[in-house]
Amino acid sequence: MRTPFVVGNWKMNLDRAGSEALARGVAAKSAGIKGVNVGICPPFPYLLTVHAQLAGSSVQLGVQNLYCEAKGAFTGEVSPAMALDCGCTWAILGHSERRLVIGENDALINKKVKTALAAGLKVILCIGETLEQRQANKTEAVVEAQLTGSLEGITADPAKLVLAYEPVWAIGTGVVATPDQAEAVHLFIRKWLSKRYSAAISEQMIIQYGGSVNPGNAATLMAQPNVDGLLVGGASLKADDFAAIVASAQPVKT
Ligand code: PEP
Repeated sequence: MRTPFVVGNWKMNLDRAGSEALARGVAAKSAGIKGVNVGICPPFPYLLTVHAQLAGSSVQLGVQNLYCEAKGAFTGEVSPAMALDCGCTWAILGHSERRLVIGENDALINKKVKTALAAGLKVILCIGETLEQRQANKTEAVVEAQLTGSLEGITADPAKLVLAYEPVWAIGTGVVATPDQAEAVHLFIRKWLSKRYSAAISEQMIIQYGGSVNPGNAATLMAQPNVDGLLVGGASLKADDFAAIVASAQPVKT
């Protein structure tokens, strides 16, 4: 049985006071929700103070990106060890904004995943197609190429790796994938995992959906058999909305 995992990606939003208040709100509001693992990924400068707000809470902390080397002369970059030192357990890697705005490719993302895992962080690896690729019926080919490239040489451990299917056309657009669209790609990913690794690994791996998730659509997405969690951007910036999404992820599946 896969425990649902809901993560808030705050992106480049909020200030210090706002981050602290949101972290306290998420910790308080998710305290009574059972059966769902919860994480938040604030901007780098607020990691320490957000971590302090989470004392005594089961909410897990993550970064939105990391560099692909352990240490050294990489001006402006942040290492996995630094993230761990700030109390993080998770790293989002391969987010489409990193791929498309910053220009990261699968080879770089693969190196980042390896470096993060080697340091002892857990990884949420994002994959997903653009609208043009979907319209050209290339969704599965794109997702497969991203998985193959980003996970090259990596032994997938479901305790340390989560996949997030995030169609680019759904991110920040208000256009959420239909539950059927999400389920179809999640099933494709699960079958790919079975072929590439094993049936056991495929069965255990958490596959999150991300893209315009809100309190109104979270439950129907989570009701899909292969949707095991949610990666939430905009709606994670309001504690009430995020808590409602977390509540929607409580297990009802048999
Ligand atoms: C994201 O960026 O990971 C995301 C899912 O954003 P939003 O929920 O705002 O679409």
